[in-house]
Amino acid sequence: MKKNIILAIGNELVEGIIVDTNSKYIANKLLEHGYKTIMTKTLPDDLEILVTEIKNSLETSDLLITTGGLGPTKDDITREAVSLAIDKKLIPDQKLVEKITAKAKKYYKEVPDIVKKQGQVIEGAIVLENPVGTAPGQIINFGTKTILILPGPPAELYPIFNEALKYIKKDSPIYTRRVKTLGIPEAVIVEKYKNIIFSNKKITVATMASYKSGVELRFTGDISLKKEIDKIVEKLLKEIGDFIYALDEKSIEEVVFEKLLESNKTVSFTESCTGGLVSSSFVNIPGVSKVFKGSVVAYSNEIKETILNVKKETLINFGAVSKECVKEMAKGVAEKFSTDYSLAISGIAGPTGGTKEKPIGTVWICAYDRKNNEYIVQKYLFKGTRETIRYRSTLYAFDTLRRLIK
Ligand code: AMP
Ligand code: MG
Repeated sequence: MKKNIILAIGNELVEGIIVDTNSKYIANKLLEHGYKTIMTKTLPDDLEILVTEIKNSLETSDLLITTGGLGPTKDDITREAVSLAIDKKLIPDQKLVEKITAKAKKYYKEVPDIVKKQGQVIEGAIVLENPVGTAPGQIINFGTKTILILPGPPAELYPIFNEALKYIKKDSPIYTRRVKTLGIPEAVIVEKYKNIIFSNKKITVATMASYKSGVELRFTGDISLKKEIDKIVEKLLKEIGDFIYALDEKSIEEVVFEKLLESNKTVSFTESCTGGLVSSSFVNIPGVSKVFKGSVVAYSNEIKETILNVKKETLINFGAVSKECVKEMAKGVAEKFSTDYSLAISGIAGPTGGTKEKPIGTVWICAYDRKNNEYIVQKYLFKGTRETIRYRSTLYAFDTLRRLIK
């Protein structure tokens, strides 16, 4: 497995004005190419810092990729920095200058002289044409190392990078498995199953927790570690299989959608605190109309009563955020819409409205199977802001339905 380092260059990155999305894109793509990104760094447009960082990076990586700093203005100095770091001349390529000037005529009435700077090529470099903007990419072989210089704007970087891959020798591919879970906190999984998860030092483990997708474990290693990685996943399936909703990139919504599609079943939703988020997430999936009939955003008690047939006594005795209420809501919407399954969500998203008995973050979720008259109904206490509580409710609502669908 070869190693690479990405240096994302630009004052705007270091100052926190824009987020470095280029590194994410490149690192992902390179995995398929057999390159492991061992470091990504954001750096300012500062010649001294750049030269030092480029030199250091070349010592520990097989491939060094820079993004940004290829513009025509004074602050863009990546070309100069690379040329100084590897002690190769920067030579103006006359043909390239002409090409760039011709292109620049589209953007400028009168092409400023500084644009010509983009036609400077590092001695021995292959020039990678920019199909979108003016600054071309460059690829340089430096001893056993390769340096790839790319422009910063993502729309320019993507096509040039994909072209550059043709010049970068593929290494043995990298094997990755993903385990997506819901219901056990990240720290608990990692602590309780550490003997399984970290059983092999050669396997890189990444864990991620997100309120939009739960806790994901990702195992990566050289293809020769395939059996070992598969064994880890199998062991986890045995131990916490019930909490695992996907072993691939699928979202929880997609998992539910596929389960419904396979069993030829339909679903409807009724949402209070999520206010349509469950429905909105679901309709992100193309073709969802095959299983999804519709939903009722039942925000007020009046709508719960009149549209979903929730009993007045239920609302008076137990309140809208209660087991009894979500059960009646789920039943009501499934009957009204004649669906096989339904989901009901009612909770307190805050920042106001919490009480001692029902603090902010209290959410009741009910999944209902109309034919078998079966329910899974559960209370949650989510932490976070109004937004994260609503997203968590959505996530767990889909998971409740996943558990109900046999
Ligand atoms: P450049 O002229 O090559 O330095 O690139 C300038 C523009 O590209 C910046 O103003 C950003 O809009 C975009 N850009 C640069 N670096 C990145 C990065 N790492 N991730 C996303 N966008 C970037
Ligand atoms: Mg820049």
